[in-house]
Amino acid sequence: MAAEKQLDEMDSLARFKKEFYQTENQIYMDGNSLGLMSKRAEAKLLEVVESWKIHGIDGWTEGKDPWFTMAENLSARIAPLVGAKPHEVMVTGSITSNIHQMLSTIFQPSGDRFAIMVDELNFPSDIYAVESHLRLRGLDPATAMKKVRSRDGFTLELQDIIDELTDEVAIIMLPSVLYRSGQLLPIREIAEAAHEKGILVGFDLAHSIGALPHELHDCGVDFAVWCHYKYMNSGPGGTGGLYIHERHHDLLPGNAGWFGSDKAKQFDMDHSFSKAEGAGAYQIGTPNIFSMAPLLGSIEIFEEAGIEAVREKSLQLTSMLRELIAQKIPALKDVTPVEDAGRGGHIALAHEEAARICKALKEAGVVPDFRAPNIIRLAPVALYTSYSDVEKVVERLKAIMDNEVYKNFSNDRNVVA
Ligand SMILES: *Cc1c(COP(=O)(O)O)cnc(C)c1O
Repeated sequence: MAAEKQLDEMDSLARFKKEFYQTENQIYMDGNSLGLMSKRAEAKLLEVVESWKIHGIDGWTEGKDPWFTMAENLSARIAPLVGAKPHEVMVTGSITSNIHQMLSTIFQPSGDRFAIMVDELNFPSDIYAVESHLRLRGLDPATAMKKVRSRDGFTLELQDIIDELTDEVAIIMLPSVLYRSGQLLPIREIAEAAHEKGILVGFDLAHSIGALPHELHDCGVDFAVWCHYKYMNSGPGGTGGLYIHERHHDLLPGNAGWFGSDKAKQFDMDHSFSKAEGAGAYQIGTPNIFSMAPLLGSIEIFEEAGIEAVREKSLQLTSMLRELIAQKIPALKDVTPVEDAGRGGHIALAHEEAARICKALKEAGVVPDFRAPNIIRLAPVALYTSYSDVEKVVERLKAIMDNEVYKNFSNDRNVVA
Protein backbone atom coordinates (compact mmCIF):
# COMPACT_ATOMS: atom_id res chain seq x y z
CA MET A 1 0.00 0.00 0.00
CA ALA A 2 2.80 2.38 0.89
CA ALA A 3 4.22 2.23 -2.64
CA GLU A 4 0.84 3.18 -4.15
CA LYS A 5 0.46 6.12 -1.77
CA GLN A 6 3.89 7.36 -2.75
CA LEU A 7 3.13 7.08 -6.46
CA ASP A 8 -0.10 9.04 -5.89
CA GLU A 9 1.83 11.79 -4.14
CA MET A 10 4.26 12.11 -7.03
CA ASP A 11 1.55 11.91 -9.71
CA SER A 12 1.44 15.15 -11.69
CA LEU A 13 -2.04 14.26 -13.02
CA ALA A 14 -3.55 13.58 -9.59
CA ARG A 15 -5.08 17.07 -9.49
CA PHE A 16 -7.52 16.18 -12.27
CA LYS A 17 -9.25 13.40 -10.31
CA LYS A 18 -11.35 15.86 -8.29
CA GLU A 19 -12.66 17.42 -11.50
CA PHE A 20 -14.68 14.29 -12.24
CA TYR A 21 -17.94 13.21 -10.62
CA GLN A 22 -17.37 9.86 -8.98
CA THR A 23 -19.67 7.89 -6.72
CA GLU A 24 -18.21 7.63 -3.25
CA ASN A 25 -16.38 4.39 -2.55
CA GLN A 26 -16.79 3.33 -6.14
CA ILE A 27 -13.85 2.83 -8.49
CA TYR A 28 -14.77 3.40 -12.10
CA MET A 29 -12.89 1.10 -14.50
CA ASP A 30 -15.23 1.55 -17.47
CA GLY A 31 -13.98 4.79 -19.00
CA ASN A 32 -13.20 2.87 -22.19
CA SER A 33 -16.96 2.45 -22.73
CA LEU A 34 -18.24 5.73 -21.30
CA GLY A 35 -15.93 8.29 -19.71
CA LEU A 36 -17.03 10.02 -16.51
CA MET A 37 -18.52 13.50 -16.46
CA SER A 38 -16.14 16.28 -15.54
CA LYS A 39 -17.25 19.52 -13.96
CA ARG A 40 -15.92 21.39 -16.97
CA ALA A 41 -17.90 19.27 -19.43
CA GLU A 42 -21.02 19.85 -17.37
CA ALA A 43 -20.38 23.60 -17.16
CA LYS A 44 -19.92 23.92 -20.94
CA LEU A 45 -23.08 21.95 -21.63
CA LEU A 46 -25.07 24.20 -19.28
CA GLU A 47 -23.48 27.29 -20.80
CA VAL A 48 -24.53 26.25 -24.29
CA VAL A 49 -28.06 25.43 -23.10
CA GLU A 50 -28.15 28.90 -21.57
CA SER A 51 -27.07 30.44 -24.84
CA TRP A 52 -30.16 28.92 -26.52
CA LYS A 53 -32.28 30.40 -23.72
CA ILE A 54 -30.75 33.87 -24.15
CA HIS A 55 -30.05 34.13 -27.86
CA GLY A 56 -32.57 31.91 -29.65
CA ILE A 57 -31.63 31.78 -33.33
CA ASP A 58 -28.80 34.25 -32.77
CA GLY A 59 -26.94 31.59 -30.78
CA TRP A 60 -25.59 30.43 -34.15
CA THR A 61 -23.35 33.49 -34.23
CA GLU A 62 -23.54 35.02 -30.72
CA GLY A 63 -22.34 33.96 -27.29
CA LYS A 64 -19.05 32.55 -26.10
CA ASP A 65 -19.10 29.46 -28.32
CA PRO A 66 -21.25 30.30 -31.36
CA TRP A 67 -22.88 27.16 -32.75
CA PHE A 68 -22.12 27.88 -36.41
CA THR A 69 -18.37 27.43 -35.92
CA MET A 70 -18.38 25.20 -32.83
CA ALA A 71 -17.45 22.02 -34.73
CA GLU A 72 -14.68 23.77 -36.68
CA ASN A 73 -13.22 25.34 -33.54
CA LEU A 74 -13.31 22.05 -31.67
CA SER A 75 -11.75 20.20 -34.59
CA ALA A 76 -8.64 22.36 -34.50
CA ARG A 77 -8.25 21.51 -30.81
CA ILE A 78 -8.82 17.77 -31.32
CA ALA A 79 -6.30 17.62 -34.22
CA PRO A 80 -3.18 17.50 -31.97
CA LEU A 81 -4.60 14.47 -30.17
CA VAL A 82 -4.66 12.47 -33.40
CA GLY A 83 -1.49 13.98 -34.87
CA ALA A 84 -3.28 15.73 -37.71
CA LYS A 85 -3.25 19.18 -39.25
CA PRO A 86 -6.22 21.25 -38.03
CA HIS A 87 -7.96 21.15 -41.41
CA GLU A 88 -7.71 17.35 -41.58
CA VAL A 89 -10.07 16.79 -38.65
CA MET A 90 -13.80 17.29 -38.22
CA VAL A 91 -15.90 16.82 -35.11
CA THR A 92 -19.05 15.33 -36.59
CA GLY A 93 -21.25 12.25 -36.77
CA SER A 94 -20.67 8.98 -34.96
CA ILE A 95 -18.06 6.30 -35.59
CA THR A 96 -20.47 4.31 -37.72
CA SER A 97 -21.87 7.21 -39.73
CA ASN A 98 -18.32 8.48 -40.28
CA ILE A 99 -17.23 5.07 -41.61
CA HIS A 100 -20.09 5.31 -44.10
CA GLN A 101 -19.04 8.83 -45.05
CA MET A 102 -15.35 7.96 -45.42
CA LEU A 103 -15.99 4.84 -47.49
CA SER A 104 -18.47 6.57 -49.74
CA THR A 105 -15.91 9.34 -50.30
CA ILE A 106 -12.63 7.48 -50.60
CA PHE A 107 -13.44 3.96 -51.81
CA GLN A 108 -13.13 3.76 -55.58
CA PRO A 109 -13.46 0.10 -56.52
CA SER A 110 -12.30 -0.94 -59.96
CA GLY A 111 -12.55 -4.24 -61.80
CA ASP A 112 -9.63 -5.97 -60.12
CA ARG A 113 -9.30 -3.85 -56.98
CA PHE A 114 -12.60 -4.01 -55.18
CA ALA A 115 -12.10 -5.43 -51.69
CA ILE A 116 -12.12 -3.84 -48.24
CA MET A 117 -10.07 -5.60 -45.62
CA VAL A 118 -11.08 -5.68 -41.97
CA ASP A 119 -10.23 -8.11 -39.19
CA GLU A 120 -12.15 -10.91 -37.56
CA LEU A 121 -11.90 -9.36 -34.10
CA ASN A 122 -13.41 -6.02 -35.10
CA PHE A 123 -16.36 -4.33 -33.42
CA PRO A 124 -19.66 -5.42 -35.06
CA SER A 125 -20.81 -1.94 -36.08
CA ASP A 126 -17.69 -1.41 -38.20
CA ILE A 127 -18.35 -4.71 -39.95
CA TYR A 128 -22.03 -3.90 -40.54
CA ALA A 129 -21.03 -0.56 -42.05
CA VAL A 130 -18.50 -2.14 -44.43
CA GLU A 131 -20.89 -4.91 -45.50
CA SER A 132 -23.78 -2.58 -46.19
CA HIS A 133 -21.50 -0.15 -47.99
CA LEU A 134 -20.24 -2.90 -50.28
CA ARG A 135 -23.82 -3.93 -51.07
CA LEU A 136 -24.67 -0.33 -51.97
CA ARG A 137 -21.82 -0.42 -54.47
CA GLY A 138 -23.23 -3.59 -55.98
CA LEU A 139 -20.48 -5.74 -54.46
CA ASP A 140 -20.95 -8.99 -52.56
CA PRO A 141 -19.46 -8.83 -49.04
CA ALA A 142 -18.74 -12.57 -49.28
CA THR A 143 -16.02 -11.81 -51.81
CA ALA A 144 -15.38 -8.09 -51.35
CA MET A 145 -14.92 -8.03 -47.57
CA LYS A 146 -11.79 -9.80 -46.46
CA LYS A 147 -10.85 -10.47 -42.84
CA VAL A 148 -7.44 -10.80 -41.27
CA ARG A 149 -7.52 -13.87 -39.03
CA SER A 150 -6.34 -13.95 -35.44
CA ARG A 151 -4.16 -16.84 -34.31
CA ASP A 152 -5.16 -16.72 -30.65
CA GLY A 153 -8.61 -15.14 -30.78
CA PHE A 154 -7.37 -12.00 -29.00
CA THR A 155 -4.65 -10.32 -31.03
CA LEU A 156 -3.45 -9.77 -34.62
CA GLU A 157 0.06 -10.36 -35.97
CA LEU A 158 1.59 -7.67 -38.20
CA GLN A 159 2.83 -10.38 -40.59
CA ASP A 160 -0.69 -11.82 -40.95
CA ILE A 161 -1.99 -8.35 -41.83
CA ILE A 162 0.78 -7.81 -44.39
CA ASP A 163 0.15 -11.25 -45.93
CA GLU A 164 -3.47 -10.27 -46.58
CA LEU A 165 -2.54 -7.15 -48.57
CA THR A 166 -3.28 -8.75 -51.92
CA ASP A 167 -3.97 -7.14 -55.28
CA GLU A 168 -7.76 -7.04 -54.98
CA VAL A 169 -7.64 -5.02 -51.73
CA ALA A 170 -8.46 -1.33 -52.21
CA ILE A 171 -8.73 -0.32 -48.54
CA ILE A 172 -7.73 -1.77 -45.22
CA MET A 173 -9.64 -0.54 -42.17
CA LEU A 174 -8.53 -1.68 -38.74
CA PRO A 175 -8.93 -0.56 -35.13
CA SER A 176 -5.95 1.24 -33.59
CA VAL A 177 -6.64 -0.59 -30.32
CA LEU A 178 -8.65 -3.82 -30.36
CA TYR A 179 -11.72 -3.38 -28.18
CA ARG A 180 -11.46 -6.72 -26.40
CA SER A 181 -7.77 -7.52 -25.81
CA GLY A 182 -6.57 -3.91 -25.77
CA GLN A 183 -3.88 -4.63 -28.37
CA LEU A 184 -2.43 -1.46 -29.94
CA LEU A 185 -1.59 -2.14 -33.59
CA PRO A 186 1.56 -0.71 -35.21
CA ILE A 187 -0.18 2.02 -37.23
CA ARG A 188 2.92 3.28 -39.03
CA GLU A 189 4.08 -0.15 -40.18
CA ILE A 190 0.61 -1.10 -41.40
CA ALA A 191 0.23 2.20 -43.29
CA GLU A 192 3.64 1.79 -44.93
CA ALA A 193 3.02 -1.81 -45.96
CA ALA A 194 -0.40 -0.96 -47.40
CA HIS A 195 0.81 2.09 -49.30
CA GLU A 196 3.65 0.10 -50.85
CA LYS A 197 0.93 -1.97 -52.48
CA GLY A 198 -1.26 0.99 -53.42
CA ILE A 199 -3.82 0.23 -50.71
CA LEU A 200 -5.53 3.00 -48.72
CA VAL A 201 -5.51 2.79 -44.92
CA GLY A 202 -8.17 3.76 -42.41
CA PHE A 203 -8.20 3.37 -38.62
CA ASP A 204 -10.92 3.34 -36.01
CA LEU A 205 -9.48 5.17 -33.01
CA ALA A 206 -12.40 4.44 -30.64
CA HIS A 207 -10.13 2.90 -28.02
CA SER A 208 -7.08 5.06 -28.46
CA ILE A 209 -8.15 8.70 -28.75
CA GLY A 210 -7.67 10.30 -25.35
CA ALA A 211 -5.63 7.34 -24.13
CA LEU A 212 -2.48 7.78 -26.18
CA PRO A 213 -0.88 10.10 -28.75
CA HIS A 214 -1.20 9.50 -32.50
CA GLU A 215 0.71 10.58 -35.61
CA LEU A 216 -1.88 10.07 -38.31
CA HIS A 217 -0.56 12.68 -40.73
CA ASP A 218 3.09 11.63 -40.38
CA CYS A 219 2.18 7.99 -40.80
CA GLY A 220 0.29 8.93 -43.97
CA VAL A 221 -2.94 7.32 -42.76
CA ASP A 222 -5.66 8.10 -45.30
CA PHE A 223 -8.64 8.37 -42.97
CA ALA A 224 -9.72 7.70 -39.40
CA VAL A 225 -12.90 7.80 -37.33
CA TRP A 226 -13.55 7.88 -33.58
CA CYS A 227 -15.98 8.81 -30.85
CA HIS A 228 -15.49 11.20 -27.94
CA TYR A 229 -17.63 9.46 -25.32
CA LYS A 230 -15.00 6.88 -24.31
CA TYR A 231 -11.60 8.22 -23.16
CA MET A 232 -12.52 11.80 -24.19
CA ASN A 233 -15.34 12.00 -21.62
CA SER A 234 -17.81 13.92 -23.79
CA GLY A 235 -20.93 12.12 -22.56
CA PRO A 236 -23.33 9.49 -23.94
CA GLY A 237 -23.85 9.93 -27.67
CA GLY A 238 -21.27 12.72 -27.77
CA THR A 239 -20.48 13.79 -31.34
CA GLY A 240 -17.67 11.76 -32.95
CA GLY A 241 -14.84 12.73 -35.25
CA LEU A 242 -13.14 11.98 -38.53
CA TYR A 243 -9.73 12.60 -40.05
CA ILE A 244 -9.00 12.65 -43.75
CA HIS A 245 -5.46 13.25 -45.02
CA GLU A 246 -5.12 16.51 -46.93
CA ARG A 247 -4.08 14.63 -50.09
CA HIS A 248 -7.75 13.57 -50.39
CA HIS A 249 -9.35 16.95 -49.78
CA ASP A 250 -10.27 17.42 -53.41
CA LEU A 251 -12.74 14.51 -53.14
CA LEU A 252 -16.40 15.41 -53.10
CA PRO A 253 -18.21 13.96 -50.08
CA GLY A 254 -19.92 10.66 -50.91
CA ASN A 255 -22.82 11.83 -48.76
CA ALA A 256 -23.15 15.56 -49.21
CA GLY A 257 -25.14 17.99 -47.09
CA TRP A 258 -25.28 21.72 -46.55
CA PHE A 259 -22.98 21.68 -43.50
CA GLY A 260 -20.22 20.45 -45.81
CA SER A 261 -20.44 23.77 -47.65
CA ASP A 262 -17.89 26.51 -47.67
CA LYS A 263 -19.16 28.43 -44.64
CA ALA A 264 -19.05 31.79 -46.42
CA LYS A 265 -21.46 30.45 -49.06
CA GLN A 266 -23.67 28.08 -47.04
CA PHE A 267 -26.44 30.59 -46.51
CA ASP A 268 -26.48 31.74 -50.15
CA MET A 269 -28.90 28.81 -50.53
CA ASP A 270 -27.49 28.03 -53.96
CA HIS A 271 -28.33 24.60 -55.45
CA SER A 272 -24.75 24.09 -56.61
CA PHE A 273 -22.62 22.73 -53.75
CA SER A 274 -19.55 24.80 -52.81
CA LYS A 275 -17.47 22.31 -50.89
CA ALA A 276 -15.62 23.44 -47.75
CA GLU A 277 -11.86 23.25 -48.21
CA GLY A 278 -10.79 20.78 -45.54
CA ALA A 279 -12.32 17.92 -43.59
CA GLY A 280 -15.34 20.16 -42.90
CA ALA A 281 -16.63 19.16 -46.35
CA TYR A 282 -17.54 15.74 -44.95
CA GLN A 283 -20.09 17.04 -42.46
CA ILE A 284 -23.64 16.42 -43.53
CA GLY A 285 -26.45 18.17 -41.65
CA THR A 286 -26.86 20.54 -38.69
CA PRO A 287 -24.45 19.59 -35.90
CA ASN A 288 -25.88 18.18 -32.65
CA ILE A 289 -24.86 21.18 -30.59
CA PHE A 290 -25.75 19.80 -27.15
CA SER A 291 -23.92 16.55 -27.90
CA MET A 292 -20.83 18.51 -28.80
CA ALA A 293 -20.86 21.11 -26.01
CA PRO A 294 -19.40 18.86 -23.25
CA LEU A 295 -16.32 18.30 -25.42
CA LEU A 296 -15.56 22.03 -25.11
CA GLY A 297 -15.00 21.38 -21.42
CA SER A 298 -13.29 18.00 -21.57
CA ILE A 299 -10.79 19.04 -24.27
CA GLU A 300 -9.50 21.75 -21.90
CA ILE A 301 -8.46 19.05 -19.45
CA PHE A 302 -6.44 17.26 -22.15
CA GLU A 303 -4.84 20.54 -23.19
CA GLU A 304 -3.72 21.13 -19.61
CA ALA A 305 -2.71 17.56 -18.79
CA GLY A 306 -0.96 16.79 -22.10
CA ILE A 307 -1.60 13.52 -23.91
CA GLU A 308 2.01 12.35 -23.40
CA ALA A 309 1.59 12.56 -19.62
CA VAL A 310 -1.78 10.81 -19.86
CA ARG A 311 -0.19 7.97 -21.83
CA GLU A 312 2.74 7.65 -19.45
CA LYS A 313 0.51 7.33 -16.41
CA SER A 314 -1.91 5.04 -18.24
CA LEU A 315 0.94 2.63 -19.04
CA GLN A 316 2.06 2.65 -15.41
CA LEU A 317 -1.48 1.95 -14.23
CA THR A 318 -2.10 -0.89 -16.68
CA SER A 319 1.34 -2.43 -15.94
CA MET A 320 0.68 -2.29 -12.24
CA LEU A 321 -2.78 -3.80 -12.63
CA ARG A 322 -1.42 -6.65 -14.77
CA GLU A 323 1.43 -7.39 -12.38
CA LEU A 324 -0.75 -7.41 -9.27
CA ILE A 325 -3.31 -9.68 -10.92
CA ALA A 326 -0.62 -12.09 -12.14
CA GLN A 327 0.78 -12.29 -8.59
CA LYS A 328 -2.45 -12.51 -6.67
CA ILE A 329 -5.17 -13.92 -8.92
CA PRO A 330 -3.65 -16.55 -11.23
CA ALA A 331 -7.13 -17.90 -12.12
CA LEU A 332 -7.69 -14.90 -14.40
CA LYS A 333 -6.01 -15.22 -17.77
CA ASP A 334 -4.53 -11.90 -18.84
CA VAL A 335 -4.85 -11.64 -22.62
CA THR A 336 -3.55 -8.05 -22.89
CA PRO A 337 -0.30 -7.59 -24.83
CA VAL A 338 2.69 -7.45 -22.47
CA GLU A 339 4.77 -4.81 -24.27
CA ASP A 340 3.93 -1.16 -23.58
CA ALA A 341 4.11 -0.39 -27.30
CA GLY A 342 1.45 -3.01 -27.99
CA ARG A 343 -1.06 -2.02 -25.31
CA GLY A 344 -3.85 0.54 -25.26
CA GLY A 345 -5.53 1.94 -22.13
CA HIS A 346 -7.30 -1.11 -20.72
CA ILE A 347 -6.49 -4.63 -19.71
CA ALA A 348 -8.46 -7.73 -20.62
CA LEU A 349 -8.90 -10.78 -18.44
CA ALA A 350 -10.42 -14.00 -19.76
CA HIS A 351 -12.45 -16.32 -17.53
CA GLU A 352 -15.44 -18.54 -18.27
CA GLU A 353 -17.33 -16.94 -15.37
CA ALA A 354 -16.52 -13.43 -16.61
CA ALA A 355 -20.15 -12.22 -16.77
CA ARG A 356 -20.87 -12.95 -13.15
CA ILE A 357 -17.43 -11.92 -11.92
CA CYS A 358 -18.30 -8.50 -13.37
CA LYS A 359 -21.61 -8.46 -11.50
CA ALA A 360 -19.84 -9.32 -8.25
CA LEU A 361 -17.26 -6.60 -8.92
CA LYS A 362 -19.96 -4.04 -9.43
CA GLU A 363 -21.56 -4.98 -6.14
CA ALA A 364 -18.12 -4.65 -4.51
CA GLY A 365 -17.86 -1.06 -5.75
CA VAL A 366 -15.78 -1.55 -8.89
CA VAL A 367 -17.36 -0.74 -12.25
CA PRO A 368 -15.82 -3.11 -14.81
CA ASP A 369 -16.90 -3.88 -18.33
CA PHE A 370 -17.90 -7.26 -19.71
CA ARG A 371 -17.49 -8.23 -23.33
CA ALA A 372 -19.07 -11.46 -24.46
CA PRO A 373 -18.31 -14.25 -24.26
CA ASN A 374 -15.64 -14.28 -21.56
CA ILE A 375 -13.74 -11.01 -21.21
CA ILE A 376 -13.51 -8.67 -18.22
CA ARG A 377 -12.13 -5.28 -19.25
CA LEU A 378 -10.62 -2.94 -16.70
CA ALA A 379 -9.65 0.58 -17.77
CA PRO A 380 -7.70 2.56 -15.17
CA VAL A 381 -8.23 5.93 -16.85
CA ALA A 382 -5.24 8.18 -16.10
CA LEU A 383 -7.24 11.37 -15.51
CA TYR A 384 -9.37 9.96 -12.70
CA THR A 385 -7.73 6.79 -11.41
CA SER A 386 -5.11 6.72 -8.67
CA TYR A 387 -2.49 4.06 -8.00
CA SER A 388 -4.28 3.31 -4.73
CA ASP A 389 -7.48 2.70 -6.73
CA VAL A 390 -5.68 0.04 -8.76
CA GLU A 391 -4.51 -1.66 -5.59
CA LYS A 392 -8.07 -1.63 -4.19
CA VAL A 393 -9.52 -3.06 -7.40
CA VAL A 394 -7.12 -6.00 -7.19
CA GLU A 395 -7.95 -6.59 -3.51
CA ARG A 396 -11.69 -6.59 -4.22
CA LEU A 397 -11.28 -8.83 -7.25
CA LYS A 398 -9.09 -11.23 -5.29
CA ALA A 399 -11.70 -11.52 -2.53
CA ILE A 400 -14.38 -12.28 -5.14
CA MET A 401 -12.25 -15.03 -6.71
CA ASP A 402 -10.91 -16.53 -3.46
CA ASN A 403 -14.35 -16.72 -1.87
CA GLU A 404 -16.19 -17.54 -5.13
CA VAL A 405 -18.55 -14.63 -4.45
CA TYR A 406 -19.43 -14.60 -8.16
CA LYS A 407 -21.39 -17.82 -7.65
CA ASN A 408 -24.13 -15.69 -6.04
CA PHE A 409 -24.86 -14.22 -9.48
CA SER A 410 -26.08 -15.68 -12.78
CA ASN A 411 -23.50 -15.95 -15.55
CA ASP A 412 -25.41 -14.09 -18.24
CA ARG A 413 -24.75 -10.58 -19.38
CA ASN A 414 -26.69 -7.43 -18.58
CA VAL A 415 -28.05 -5.39 -21.49
CA VAL A 416 -25.09 -3.05 -21.93
CA ALA A 417 -22.02 -4.07 -19.98
C1 LIG B 1 -17.48 2.24 -29.42
C2 LIG B 1 -17.21 1.71 -30.77
C3 LIG B 1 -18.12 1.92 -31.83
C4 LIG B 1 -19.44 2.62 -31.62
O1 LIG B 1 -19.83 3.29 -32.78
P1 LIG B 1 -20.86 4.52 -32.73
O2 LIG B 1 -21.21 4.76 -34.12
O3 LIG B 1 -20.19 5.65 -32.03
O4 LIG B 1 -22.04 4.04 -31.92
C5 LIG B 1 -17.78 1.46 -33.09
N1 LIG B 1 -16.60 0.83 -33.31
C6 LIG B 1 -15.71 0.60 -32.31
C7 LIG B 1 -14.43 -0.10 -32.60
C8 LIG B 1 -16.00 1.02 -31.01
O5 LIG B 1 -15.14 0.77 -30.03
